[in-house]
Amino acid sequence: MFDLQKIRADFPILSREVNGKPLTYLDNGASAQKPQVVIDAVTRAYTEEYANVHRGLHYLSNLATEKYESVRGTIARFLGVTDEDEIVLNSGTTEGINLVAYGWAMPRLQAGDEIVLSVMEHHANIVPWHFLRERQGVVLKWVDVDADVGLDPQAVIDAIGPKTKLVAVTHCSNVLGTVVDVKAITEGAHAKGVPVLVDGSQGAVHMPVDVQDIGCDFYAITGHKLYGPSGSGAIYIKSDRMAEMRPFIGGGDMIKEVSKDQVIYNDPPMKFEAGTPGIVQTIGLGVALDYLMDLGMDNVAAHEAEIRDYAMQRFAGLNWIQLQGTRPDKAAIFSFTLDGAGHAHDISTILDKKGVAVRAGHHCAGPLMDFLGVTATCRASFGLYNSKDEVDTLIEALELAHDLFA
Ligand code: PLP
Repeated sequence: MFDLQKIRADFPILSREVNGKPLTYLDNGASAQKPQVVIDAVTRAYTEEYANVHRGLHYLSNLATEKYESVRGTIARFLGVTDEDEIVLNSGTTEGINLVAYGWAMPRLQAGDEIVLSVMEHHANIVPWHFLRERQGVVLKWVDVDADVGLDPQAVIDAIGPKTKLVAVTHCSNVLGTVVDVKAITEGAHAKGVPVLVDGSQGAVHMPVDVQDIGCDFYAITGHKLYGPSGSGAIYIKSDRMAEMRPFIGGGDMIKEVSKDQVIYNDPPMKFEAGTPGIVQTIGLGVALDYLMDLGMDNVAAHEAEIRDYAMQRFAGLNWIQLQGTRPDKAAIFSFTLDGAGHAHDISTILDKKGVAVRAGHHCAGPLMDFLGVTATCRASFGLYNSKDEVDTLIEALELAHDLFA
């Protein structure tokens, strides 16, 4: 049973006021708020359980190591992965995708080889591939989205040619909420012998994910959007792909032996985790994922679907709003512009006065903004603790903005 009032009480920040109004937090696409269990776990880790991991032989180091390492298994469970050694811990999706770019793609791709991307990608799933374009002549092949801003899996599969070495697509658009059929894309790409990277930064937040069912080679997640601490995250890497990778960041922990003449690397996944990690952040992420699994991601998805349907219904009654991306099965993420209104930043400032937190700008999605023919939008992105009343609060604040600009 999804008890929204009880869930809201788990997130202390939701009871604060902003600008004299109750906070209506609709910027979850950028970062989600943290439940008390995560805050407590972080506090406890620093007050009672803190030391560096892996290297010490003393009590606290062993305790911290045990707590930190157990999160690998929690993430594996959350993503439906049976072998926890296929999970590389890191600071988030950006680091995860860069690991694949530097560790897997750079040594393998040559001038003229192609990477297939959709125009809906976040810069974190674009810029690392631009590095390969600039430095070694790799070609980026872009797949457009449809008029209602969905991504046709067949269009992605058709874009794969003999020179394609990787498909890199998002599971869910951070701008529009559009959900991508990454399983169909993976099946089609694998039939052509091409691995698939999925940016799961948004996808894993809004729906149950079974990476083994999807079948993809790489699946990146980010902790701070999953109600965990910032600076935490992970990437699933299929063991066959991991075996093909060279290490990216060098330093302590990722080695077995170092001498003047040689270095012997640690076994994967540690081979790809150099230096002191985000120990406490990762411990907090483990608690956040346990919290989500206790709620049940099916229940989270069902609740957010109700919010989405209600919001779509409310938006439909406002002919002065241009909503981008109207697919009925999308996540509860809404990007829009207002007729006659100034910049999206002006709208978000007015909403802020009413205690409503949204994001305005290009949302780190330059190619999508070009495709949509806009420079910026306002984005209201809902999370598991949001309510239909908060949809109404958003609409009231938008009506005020519209009246001001009319
Ligand atoms: N990919 C998508 C779809 C995102 O929405 C984001 C963050 O907004 C990222 C990647 C990057 O995540 P992070 O900044 O946590 O590395």
